[in-house]
Amino acid sequence: MKVREILAKTVLTRTAISGFDYCMNPYVGCGHGCRYCYASFMKRFTGHKEPWGSFVDVKINAPSLLKKQLNRAIPGVVAISTVTDPYQPVEKKYEIVRRCLEILLEKQFPVNLLTRSPLCLRDIDLFNQFHDIEVGFSIGTNDESAKKIFEPNSPTIESRVKALKTLHMEKVKTYAFIGPLLPMDSKALVEMLEGAVDEILIDKMNYPNKVIGFYRKKELEFYLSDDYFKGVGVELKEEFEKKGIPVSLIF
Ligand code: SF4
Repeated sequence: MKVREILAKTVLTRTAISGFDYCMNPYVGCGHGCRYCYASFMKRFTGHKEPWGSFVDVKINAPSLLKKQLNRAIPGVVAISTVTDPYQPVEKKYEIVRRCLEILLEKQFPVNLLTRSPLCLRDIDLFNQFHDIEVGFSIGTNDESAKKIFEPNSPTIESRVKALKTLHMEKVKTYAFIGPLLPMDSKALVEMLEGAVDEILIDKMNYPNKVIGFYRKKELEFYLSDDYFKGVGVELKEEFEKKGIPVSLIF
């Protein structure tokens, strides 16, 4: 992994993503290196030639930049993050997200965190001080072998569910983002997440042309079809709702 420290010009950006006002990306690149990652388009802007997943630029001035930007910003929901995983392995050493959360906390900006890593448990003490915070885990399958194919360097599904349960017990509002829908046993996934989340979001793979080659190579093309997405999406929605968990199917 090539890790580089950089001085960014900005860290808090206005976003048009529904439900959020700002996004905050403390890193460029992501050590999780998911095979389907849409954020790999970032390479076009940063000039990285290395494969996605093999580099991370650390915005070491992110906390001081954020402090300055927040002094001028109208309060609104901050999404952390949209083109990187805030709790990817380098965060353990750099603690950029933790320091940014401390700054957001001073102003009580609402926060929505999305990650694949139980490293976020380190910051429960901060989560508990926010008036408005949600912490979500991306979990696209219940199947660890599918996870290994699509997300070779991300934490196990089991560790993510365990982390969600801990957050839920600590009274932090939690959600699972089941997206993109990967090959799975939907009933098993519902059972895993029962008692761990307040809410579920479900999304399909939104850029099939980018990943079709990879799916073909793995002989998993069916799992990229509308039939699969509709079928498994509806099944998940029905099963979660039977258990009283609200679901947003966002496709
Ligand atoms: S964790 Fe998120 S940002 Fe990182 S590679 Fe996977 S999909 Fe991309």
